[in-house]
Amino acid sequence: MNTKALYTGSFDPMTNGHLDIIKRAARLCDELTVGIIGNPQKKAMFTLEERATMMREALEGIENVKVEHFSGLTADYVNENGFNVIVRGLRSTLDFEYEAPMERMNARLFDHDVETIYLMADPAYSFVSSTIVKEVFNLGGSIEGLVPDVILKYMKRI
Ligand code: ADP
Repeated sequence: MNTKALYTGSFDPMTNGHLDIIKRAARLCDELTVGIIGNPQKKAMFTLEERATMMREALEGIENVKVEHFSGLTADYVNENGFNVIVRGLRSTLDFEYEAPMERMNARLFDHDVETIYLMADPAYSFVSSTIVKEVFNLGGSIEGLVPDVILKYMKRI
């Protein structure tokens, strides 16, 4: 079966934790779409278009990965585009507690068979979130090695 997977998130900005999940997921499926979700309620560092541009640059060379963005329900996006796998990353039991009800709710909303798969975070990045990276960066601390160099370059331009 052709596996057409979707990895969703805010990616504001993408971290090396996200990158690790993307590389590993890309090896498991035929096509992987990174779906950047727009949430008008969340104050973002980068616009959806900026995030997409930065991520495309950071992911250049990974043949079966593309970057898109969307707003609204993930399940609607999945139904409209025929994804059959959802990829999520798990850093801790906190992520698990958030993901478990989300998986149940999405399962009700999908109009075809979709399997959600969870990849355990690389321990080197299991403490890394976009939020902590932004906080440290905005206060002048080093986040080198925690986000791809391309992403750091864009952050420094702001
Ligand atoms: P959201 O705002 O929707 O949580 P994120 O961009 O923070 O979006 O995360 C998207 C996905 O990536 C989630 O499945 C999250 O658990 C996972 N993730 C986030 N940071 C890491 C990390 N450091 N290592 C592995 N997975 C991660």
